[in-house]
Amino acid sequence: MNIHEYQAKEVLKKYGAPVSAGKVAFTVQEAATAAKELGGSLWVVKAQIHAGGRGKAGGVILCRTVEEVSAAATKLLGLTLVTHQTGPKGQVVRKVYVESGCNIDRELYVSLVLERNSGRVAVIASQAGGMDIEEVAAKTPEKIIQFSFDPSTGYKSYHGRKLAYALGLEGDAQKQMLKLAEALVKSYCELDCTQIEINPLVVTKEGNLIVLDAKVSFDDNALFRHPDIESLRDLAEEDPAETEAHKHELNYVKLDGTIGCMVNGAGLAMATMDIIKLHGGEPANFLDVGGGATKERVSEAFKLILADQNVKAVLVNIFGGIMKCDVIAEGIVAAAKDIQLNVPMVVRLQGTNMEQGRKILNESGLKIISEGDLTQAAAKVVAAIKEAA
Ligand code: GDP
Ligand code: MN
Repeated sequence: MNIHEYQAKEVLKKYGAPVSAGKVAFTVQEAATAAKELGGSLWVVKAQIHAGGRGKAGGVILCRTVEEVSAAATKLLGLTLVTHQTGPKGQVVRKVYVESGCNIDRELYVSLVLERNSGRVAVIASQAGGMDIEEVAAKTPEKIIQFSFDPSTGYKSYHGRKLAYALGLEGDAQKQMLKLAEALVKSYCELDCTQIEINPLVVTKEGNLIVLDAKVSFDDNALFRHPDIESLRDLAEEDPAETEAHKHELNYVKLDGTIGCMVNGAGLAMATMDIIKLHGGEPANFLDVGGGATKERVSEAFKLILADQNVKAVLVNIFGGIMKCDVIAEGIVAAAKDIQLNVPMVVRLQGTNMEQGRKILNESGLKIISEGDLTQAAAKVVAAIKEAA
């Protein structure tokens, strides 16, 4: 789960991270009031969307008067911001963050991210932070340092010293880095994060550290332990189909292709997507209905797939182990009663109760292309799309 920058800063602040004062605003009026309440003579108005690259896309505006803050909010609220992370469709800005501005001397980069291979947390840092960090990584990787720690042992003071040294910090900023490192490691471990990215972490002209941007992501599987974090979820930023899938405990990720996939087991779902691609097709989604799916859940999954306007054919690939093929078949038939199935569907059922499953489908009156072999099934679904077109 992702949260907005202003929420991430609130969360990190509780752990002692230095952030500027700021207020979230949903209207131009609220933005102007926020600027007045914050006081001072420099503000930054920042579009709040679940994507980075806002600076380069015009989503971060420096303002020197309250009138400029109002103008910036007018410009951003309701705007569809297209950044290199949003995809070409962009994301609608529904709120802005009005923050007290600061005098930047240097922009640094620090992130903590789950290192799946080793089960550790990687700490990545660079003195060359800011909006061009991707370019730094590509062209001058030597400017990026990396080390990792074991989440079960948590923060050790040498983590902070290592970071302060790598980032070339001295004096007060060095001391502040030790405190910030502890805050980042602690929040990462305690809140079951998968990523914390601070870019930029700035050193001000006055020599202080400030977390100027923060992206924090959480492990969905651990959210039950953190209702306060879960309450930060912004459904407007998430794909409605994925939200619906989440409600029915389905593992669903929407993709850009045309072949809807209903599969049980994450590994089989990945293999199914691969084999579709191998035959020249593009999957419209990743969907794992899980091992213990009920008829109702299968039915919801099927409706989700067909609700996607891009879907031109469906491939059902079930290996009945714990999941039974007849349950899958019943779910499909139940869903097809509610919604019209007007695209070709290739079904591969193997394993427990496959005979019953095939019988249910055959007697349902649905137009189905049955196939026992996965390679053939993939070839057939790709061919079916070409034929229909
Ligand atoms: P991102 O592009 O989505 O990652 O948005 P950021 O929050 O990182 O902001 C982009 C850039 O805006 C930063 O790298 C800074 O250069 C600039 N910026 C943000 N806040 C301030 C501020 O308070 N003062 C100044 N001078 N620049 C800022
Ligand atoms: Mn940033």
